[in-house]
Amino acid sequence: MIIDLHMHTRFGSNCSYLDPGELARRAREIGLDGVCITEHELCWEAEALNALSREHGILVLGGVEVSTEMGQVLVYGVHQPLWKVSGMRELRGVVDEGGGVMIASHPFRGYMLLNEPPSVEEVLAREIFQMVDAVEVFNGGAARRELDFGCQVLRRLNLKGVGGSDAHAAHTIGRCVTIFERDIASENDLLEELKARRFKAWHRSMEWEF
Ligand SMILES: [Zn+2]
Ligand SMILES: [Zn+2]
Repeated sequence: MIIDLHMHTRFGSNCSYLDPGELARRAREIGLDGVCITEHELCWEAEALNALSREHGILVLGGVEVSTEMGQVLVYGVHQPLWKVSGMRELRGVVDEGGGVMIASHPFRGYMLLNEPPSVEEVLAREIFQMVDAVEVFNGGAARRELDFGCQVLRRLNLKGVGGSDAHAAHTIGRCVTIFERDIASENDLLEELKARRFKAWHRSMEWEF
């Protein structure tokens, strides 16, 4: 079961050009089984997700990409507005209460562009990795060096990695995805499989699994 866990549309993210219908159509065309629309700070209504799913014959789920003081986090399974939640600790509490899952979103972004990139050891010690359930090790916007660095960090953490395209335009849909061992037909299935760690990350365009 192949799902792109991280995507933005122009409907909910003003940084995105992607039409939701185009997103679903293209995802199906390239062979994905499902998509998660993860706008910034807000989650789509279940009815709108279901309508898109019915229309295009592909699983369409929702999540939220929340900005925190420790970086951005993908949240699944929480439907209350999160824009009032301030800070990672409060977010963790809200997500736990709702039975959701938190994944660190592109936590290595920008490191390789620094004059003195941090060491793996330095990054391992960052608090965000004690706050999340998994890490987005393959992000569609990341260069090879950043991906390599992320893999090195993840090998040392007791956390699994997911893949997400972070698509803001059609050509990046499905660049990075997550392969689940079991079928997923609902948000509850997704949460269960994420919690059970039955998945791996796949960089489709670099033909690389982690
Ligand atoms: Zn982001
Ligand atoms: Zn994003």
